[in-house]
Formats: sequence, structure tokens, C-alpha cells
Amino acid sequence: MATEQEVRTALGSVLDPEIRRPITELDMVRSIEVDAGTGVVTVLVALTIAGCPMRETITKDVRAAVEKLDGVPSCTVEMTVMTDEERTDLRTKLRGGKAEPVIPFSQPDSLTRVYAVASGKGGVGKSSVTANLAAAMSAQGLKVGVIDADVYGFSIPRMLGVETGPTKVDDMILPPLSGEIKVISIGMFTQPGKAVVWRGPMLHRALQQFLADVFWGDLDVLLLDLPPGTGDIAISVAQLLPGAELLVVTTPQLAAAEVAERAGSMAQATNQRIAGVIENMSWLDQPDGTRLDLFGSGGGAKVAQRLTEVLGTDVPLLGQVPIEVALREGSDNGAPLVGTGSQSPAAQVLRDVASTLGQRSRGLAGRKLAISPVG
Ligand code: ADP
Repeated sequence: MATEQEVRTALGSVLDPEIRRPITELDMVRSIEVDAGTGVVTVLVALTIAGCPMRETITKDVRAAVEKLDGVPSCTVEMTVMTDEERTDLRTKLRGGKAEPVIPFSQPDSLTRVYAVASGKGGVGKSSVTANLAAAMSAQGLKVGVIDADVYGFSIPRMLGVETGPTKVDDMILPPLSGEIKVISIGMFTQPGKAVVWRGPMLHRALQQFLADVFWGDLDVLLLDLPPGTGDIAISVAQLLPGAELLVVTTPQLAAAEVAERAGSMAQATNQRIAGVIENMSWLDQPDGTRLDLFGSGGGAKVAQRLTEVLGTDVPLLGQVPIEVALREGSDNGAPLVGTGSQSPAAQVLRDVASTLGQRSRGLAGRKLAISPVG
């Protein structure tokens, strides 16, 4: 027969499917009873909200963990719901002891690297690059979060195969997952089919809410898919996330200098670092082995060079991603190319860029340091 302590230890391996922490740590295990006659175990679990969409997953996981123990013929799972007070305690706990929402990524001790993915215009593959970088970084073992703020087309959930929406626990938002990637899109909060014109202040508030109210946990990397162009959102990002770095996505064909100039002066004005340039749709490998420069060539290198001149710091061209049908199909099917194990040139470049960005120590540029000079 198992002891109560053995059951509790076994339950330590059951993660809340949304919060990704052990249910024992979240005070969700209310009672454990081991029947003295039969050895049957009954576990009472408190859900964060009634009608929790993850009810079945939790039941299944609890049973599996407990029934693995020697001497347990079966496990019954009973459910209750947290009181308002218990939920408030949980929120405070998840916020690291802070009662009010704060943006964890703008705290001086945050170790999360934040990359805001920007482009001069739409359709250059900014969202595809974001989704694939997220998938590659996650496959490389990093904890990754993605915010889709591209109000001209919320494509990140589709590209990452996220079909469910977020769960709200009072005013805390638990993001849905794509594998282990936490994903939030402004599109999850708008009514389908209803057009919304996103003005600067609205977007700022939405972004602020996502950064502060969404439970991100300890992320290694946060990627933001920005709307194309250099609008108000860039200023919001700089204000809300002073440590964020920009990733500029371009095609070879764009009026490179112009894009560079704009992105560069924006970065300068907002005191943001540019982590590098990614050229997308660089060429098409043809069946006869030749390359077709569908959109010209050299744009990425030119943008990187101009940004380096404008900013006076090295802005590298991180990679050139060729055009591949499989990449487009992966985005359409919710299975990013890099996550499929593909060894195609595009998948390899995206993985290389992901490991470069994932390994960099986070930049201090533009951050207010929590120390003041002495003397
Ligand atoms: P943006 O976010 O810049 O508007 P998207 O990522 O939505 O651009 O890409 C626009 C279209 O181009 C999508 O259908 C996408 O699947 C496709 N696409 C992007 N990059 C590539 C690529 N390297 N090869 C093939 N198709 C691509």
C-alpha cells in the first residue's frame, strides 16, 4: 500500500497543463486519501476556475502518476474549484510575490532576451521567420514565448498550430501552448470577422496587458511579431521593454537603404539595439541546381551595412533564408518547417540564426541599470 507522502511525491511530477508548474507547488492538491483496506487512492484537486478546459488532462495525468506506484490498484480523482482568495494567493505567487501586475521582462534582474521582429513592409515573411525561430529555439531547449502584435494579420497562432484561446484566471491570462511555446495573439481577443482599426494607444495598452497580465513563467526568450513599418508600436516596445532588441526582416529586393534608414533612426531615437538583419526569400533553388534570384540580391547585406553605418555599432546579417514551398506549407499547416526535422537549406539557416540569438547574452543597451555611479 502506498503512503500519503509517496502519493504526494508522485504528484510532484504532474504539471498544470497551462501554468507548467507541478500541481503540488500550486496548492492544487487538496487532499490525498489512501483506503486502508483496498489501497485505492483518492486525490482531491482544486482547479483554478470552474469549467477549466484542462480538467481531463489533469485527471489523466494524476491517475497515471499515482497508479504507477506499487500497491495502488487504482486512483480516483475528484475536483473542486479554488475560492477567490485562493486564486488571489496563486496569482501573487505566480507574479513572484508581487500583488500588482508588473512587466517581468523590464525588471532589472530579468534574464529573458526580448527580440522584436520588425520589417519595413508586409509580406516579407516576418511572421514566418518569427514562428520558425520560436520553434527552433524551443527545440534547442529554450523556454520561449511569442506575442503576436501584427495587427494587419494575426498569423502566428495559425503558423504555430495554436487552436485554443487563452484561459483567464480572474485578471491573469494563461497563454495557450504550441508544444512548449507560450503564444499570445491580440487576435485572440478580437471578435472574428470584425474589423478593428488599431490606433497607437490601443495597441500600447494591449501590449502592456500582454506583458504584465499574461503568465509567462521564466522565459529564456520572448519574441514579438510587430506590425510592419515603423509606427507607434516601436515606441511602445521601447517604453515597455527597454531591453528589447530589434530583428529586421527584409527581402533582397526592398529599397534597402530606405528601410535601413527608417529602422536605424527609429532604433536611435528609442535607444534600442538592433540584433541583426535576416534576409528572407533570398533565392529559389531550382531542380536543375541553379539559383533563381526571384527578388534580386544583396538587400539583406545592404540593410545590415547601412544600419552599421547609421548606428555606429556592428549590425550583422544573421542569415539568408531561401524560398521553399515546404516553408510556406509548414506555416499554412501549423507545423513550422524547422520543427519537422527538415534539413532543407531554409530550415538549417533558421536553426543557425536561432542558436546565434539564443546563445547571446542579453544586451544592456538602453536598460536602466539598478546601480548609480559613485564618486
Ligand atoms: P509578413 O509577416 O511579413 O507579412 P508572412 O510571414 O505572413 O509575412 O509571409 C507571407 C507569405 O509568404 C506567407 O504565405 C508565407 O508562408 C510565405 N513565405 C514567407 N517566407 C517564405 C519562404 N522563405 N519561402 C516560401 N514562402 C515563404
